[in-house]
Amino acid sequence: MADRLRTDVAVIGSGPGGAVTASLCAEAGYATLLIEDGPDLPLEANAHFSGDEILSKYRNAGIAMAFGKPSVSFVEGRCVGGGSEVNRGLYHRTPAYVLEQWSRSHRVDHLTEAALAPHFDACEQTARISRLPGTAPDLSQRLGDGAARLGWDAIAAPRLYDYGAGRKQSMSETFVPRFRQAGGRLIADCRATRIRRLGGKWEVTARQGRGDLTIEADALFVACGAVQTPALLRRSGFRRNIGNSLRFHPMMKAVALFDASVNRPGDPDPVHQIKMFEPRFGIGCSISSPALLALALAGNPQMRARIGSDAARMGLYYVQNGTGHARVRNLPAMQDPLVSIRHEEEELDQLYDGLKHLMRALFAAGAEAVQPCIRGFPLLRSVDEIAALPAQPWRSALLTSVHVFASCPMGEDMSLCATDSWGRVHGGDGLRIADASLMCGPTIANPQGSVMAIAHRNALHALERRFA
Ligand SMILES: Cc1cc2nc3c(=O)[nH]c(=O)nc-3n(C[C@H](O)[C@H](O)[C@H](O)COP(=O)(O)OP(=O)(O)OC[C@H]3O[C@@H](n4cnc5c(N)ncnc54)[C@H](O)[C@@H]3O)c2cc1C
Repeated sequence: MADRLRTDVAVIGSGPGGAVTASLCAEAGYATLLIEDGPDLPLEANAHFSGDEILSKYRNAGIAMAFGKPSVSFVEGRCVGGGSEVNRGLYHRTPAYVLEQWSRSHRVDHLTEAALAPHFDACEQTARISRLPGTAPDLSQRLGDGAARLGWDAIAAPRLYDYGAGRKQSMSETFVPRFRQAGGRLIADCRATRIRRLGGKWEVTARQGRGDLTIEADALFVACGAVQTPALLRRSGFRRNIGNSLRFHPMMKAVALFDASVNRPGDPDPVHQIKMFEPRFGIGCSISSPALLALALAGNPQMRARIGSDAARMGLYYVQNGTGHARVRNLPAMQDPLVSIRHEEEELDQLYDGLKHLMRALFAAGAEAVQPCIRGFPLLRSVDEIAALPAQPWRSALLTSVHVFASCPMGEDMSLCATDSWGRVHGGDGLRIADASLMCGPTIANPQGSVMAIAHRNALHALERRFA
């Protein structure tokens, strides 16, 4: 017989969307239960970006694929705090033009820059944003220098990071403690498998360790992230515009080999970004540990062989945009859903053009050689060789992504949207979504700030209406 719990509010998933929502509900005086599929581990449980961290805090040890031509390999967090625990916390508010576009395309009410500003302010008070004090690490600064030599603008991006304390402002450091302080109850290692409406309440069936748990709640928020939320909802019979419009920020990468040491263990995380080409594409620096260089260079054995001797002179960089339209579908007897993606040719051309811009910036920054991370592609020795690259890399290119969203978009356009403008599932009897699924499309900018601010806005809206 399953254990049974009763609560006023249940929130499924403790990433940025779920943690912000749960803390506001608990602080408003509601008995609030937050359940999380993954383990409850402190920020410092593993070295950041290490293999151990990938094994313990990522879903499926960091292996997930959106199948298409090309496919996109992506990762998600699976632990208390979700993606905020494993990410770099690079931070931007949603650009105003993106909000305008969503308001138009999906008919979202009250989603202007001014209307969202108080919600950003409130989230930024708890999860502090700051800029790297002093000079950026060489690997980061090189991208800024290369951009400047080409007459392009680069910025040193702010982060969800307390540089004074040397701690990332992840959910386990910010909103989860706030939730607990307000009396909220968190159950980790607990996976919701189905939800249903029963006798005017919400019933969540969950698996905790080897046992089953049933939760009865007056109000329910689903915040499992943009892939798992539509999977849970579809499995539970909610299908209208659910899981049909998943979007990624797919990335292509390049490794630069510089004439001097730029990549030293213990350097601060890189922060430079070139944003002037957005929304066509955005450019930035990746973590460049030997393990991540080796992963990026899997299809380029010549450059990979040099990691042992030359990692200190290497930097890994990315370009990303918002290409591809993906779907989430459950498969019988499988825990994880099938994710498939299709791309328009022009979108891919834009991304490839972005990769060429990135490589130009790296040569301008003084790179001796640049390796595009595409299987079988040559090591480039000069900027002129970029023009000789194949016009179509897509047979051998594997895209990667760390940003997923928009699988259950919000808005009043019933032909496109899964929820209303405030995250209430259309026809869902008060059921709410509270995560990156609600976004109406790509931001190109790093998305966590948008997820938090929208969750904050929608949770206050729900509380004002007593969850009606
Ligand atoms: C490696 C990496 C780097 C990134 N870098 C940045 C960055 O620098 N800046 C930025 O802005 N964004 C970054 N992101 C993206 C950012 O982390 C996400 O946008 C954000 O975490 C999304 O929040 P969310 O609440 O929608 O979902 P998530 O963070 O994915 O959280 C969902 C949670 O729900 C849990 N869950 C799922 N299914 C169930 C279930 N059935 N039952 C119970 N719990 C469940 C999951 O385990 C997970 O913990 C990065 C992401 C990754 C993975």
